[in-house]
Amino acid sequence: LYVEHPLGAGQSVPLDRDQAHYLFGVMRLADGAPVALFNGRDGEWQAGVAEAGKRGGTLVCQEQSKPLQLPPDLWLMFAPIKKARTDFIVEKAAEMGAARILPVQTEFTNSERIRQDRLQAHAVEAAEQCGGTYVPDVAELQKLPRLLDQWPAGRELMFCDEAEAGNTLQLAAETQKNAPWAILIGPEGGFSEAERKRLHNHPQSHVVSLGPRILRADTAAVAAMTLWQQALGD
Ligand code: SAM
Repeated sequence: LYVEHPLGAGQSVPLDRDQAHYLFGVMRLADGAPVALFNGRDGEWQAGVAEAGKRGGTLVCQEQSKPLQLPPDLWLMFAPIKKARTDFIVEKAAEMGAARILPVQTEFTNSERIRQDRLQAHAVEAAEQCGGTYVPDVAELQKLPRLLDQWPAGRELMFCDEAEAGNTLQLAAETQKNAPWAILIGPEGGFSEAERKRLHNHPQSHVVSLGPRILRADTAAVAAMTLWQQALGD
């Protein structure tokens, strides 16, 4: 279960109404049964029930069951598409171990707004589901040119461009094993010519093909993360 509260030996963790409903109403947690808690910072802790009520409750941390496992420093940058597909991208990126998820507004991006809180909740659920101890941060929507203007020194960019027949396996040879990376996936309509030019000229850009077929953006995000993991992940 994800909680915001700090976790540590003997630490009491208050539960809100939804969490209490889930644990005691839905999961029918028996007295004394341990609950695995994580908050994205302190690893995973086994906790026991100290108080159980309909509107809340308290758990007490007993012992750490997993240390915090930080993912590799990989950003997934993507242009938001339809709601359900955007949710899918965030969920899969969190499952596959992205450290940060950055929705970006490109020239052909249809949505001008995202529900950052909703997407962050999807990232939490995905981390919960796959037993992670870390939750990637979902950033607010940012404009692509602004992000490129403020590009962090040393971060490599895997620019997924369907118009380019590149070789993904070269990624490993081209950079340091532990360099920070970002993957960039475009919207349904792809990138404009001006954007492609800028991305091709970006000093840290590695232009990558995901194969001969044009993939939907959500498929492309999963394929790109898989290739990156294979070439550079742990
Ligand atoms: N521009 C295209 C069009 O309208 O025909 C389609 C864009 S595709 C649906 C969405 C994004 O997925 C692209 O901008 C690119 O980042 C990524 N993508 C899809 N297929 C790809 C491939 N074969 N190689 C590299 N990137 C791909």
